[in-house]
Amino acid sequence: MQTKNPDIKKTKFTLLEKIYLPEILKGLWYTFKQMFAPNFTFRYPDVRWNPIAAFRGRPVLVERDDKAGERCVACGLCARVCPPMAISMQAVETELEQERHPLTFEINMLRCIYCGYCEEVCPEEAIVMSKEYDITYFSRESAIMDKQKLLVPAESVKDRLDFLRKFKNDIRKESDQVANVQP
Ligand code: SF4
Ligand code: SF4
Repeated sequence: MQTKNPDIKKTKFTLLEKIYLPEILKGLWYTFKQMFAPNFTFRYPDVRWNPIAAFRGRPVLVERDDKAGERCVACGLCARVCPPMAISMQAVETELEQERHPLTFEINMLRCIYCGYCEEVCPEEAIVMSKEYDITYFSRESAIMDKQKLLVPAESVKDRLDFLRKFKNDIRKESDQVANVQP
């Protein structure tokens, strides 16, 4: 059975509402005030945003302090934990005291989801999330970053390394406290 639609009540507008003038003036006043409000935007790319240390930009490999190569000991943990399987490497022995290093190390940035798991599991602070966020590619091949493109000096990711040490130390302190209160 078809039901009758309820009657629609018409809203009664005042004269000022009908001519929209007060609303237009309100809008103009708001726009005028915004001209003197502080800016929250950048004139990118002339002005660049410097992210905070907690920001996760593209993952990079960290150079050894003596500049003799990468810190990475090619343990493979990062490749194993990477959800989209973006990391691949080939491990070889080295004369350096770390004994092993990656002969090749690649991250397919078309797959990377910037999750930071690789950084979290790395025992050597050898792979960290940098502050680089505006990455462009002109071909699929150029999105595959090899060791040469990934390697950066430790000083350039100092903020992130400090942040990680603090973060990991805090977690360790919390787990120590839990272990201490357990009977
Ligand atoms: S950030 Fe995540 S997705 Fe990207 S390489 Fe690391 S583990 Fe893989
Ligand atoms: S987890 Fe760290 S040390 Fe191990 S292979 Fe990855 S980057 Fe290298």
